[in-house]
Amino acid sequence: MKGPLLVIFPHPDDEAFSSAGTIIQHRKEGWPVTYVCLTLGEMGRNMGSPIFTTREELPKIRKHELEDACEVMGIQDLRMWGLRDKTVEFEDEEELSARFRSLIDEVNPATVISFYPGYAVHPDHEATARAVVRALQEIEDSKRPEFLGVAFDRRTEEELGQPHVIHDVTAESEQKKAALFAHRSQTEGLLRAIDHAENAHVMELLQRERFYHYPFS
Ligand SMILES: [Zn+2]
Repeated sequence: MKGPLLVIFPHPDDEAFSSAGTIIQHRKEGWPVTYVCLTLGEMGRNMGSPIFTTREELPKIRKHELEDACEVMGIQDLRMWGLRDKTVEFEDEEELSARFRSLIDEVNPATVISFYPGYAVHPDHEATARAVVRALQEIEDSKRPEFLGVAFDRRTEEELGQPHVIHDVTAESEQKKAALFAHRSQTEGLLRAIDHAENAHVMELLQRERFYHYPFS
């Protein structure tokens, strides 16, 4: 059973790597998907491979890439909040969480996808994860949407165990690849590697999406 899906990530491409297949499945079944992307990833290290942009042009390019990726995934409700890349960790957590709370009230999702706090590696990821979980924590148990947390720290399996939810997105893998490719300033090098070496890690990335539930108290 599915329903409206709310996806919250700090950087363009976070969604494509972690959840494109899940998003595409929701859209195929006719559920609305709202994607809130907090920054334009303008501090990203990659400027194409080979390099095709400059630091000044990068935000514009990543915005277009994000829009293209959303088109591939069928997301009609894309919201760019325009926070500065690499500074989400300095946002006031209470304020950010209150913004997420009103977003959740407005979108009324059955499921929320974001990073899982403590296992999301990058400071912007962690700050996003903490504020999302805090917003969800305030909702009473019976009304709280399902939370699917993306965790990819190397401690994840040792400490959290096997993923609680694994989506087989093999049928969506070509579209997922296209969504990843839409973020070409960030992923072109990676995708060239995909074409040359059908390695297990890449197949896993394209065919299975792994999520953890959070133990809300
Ligand atoms: Zn990111």
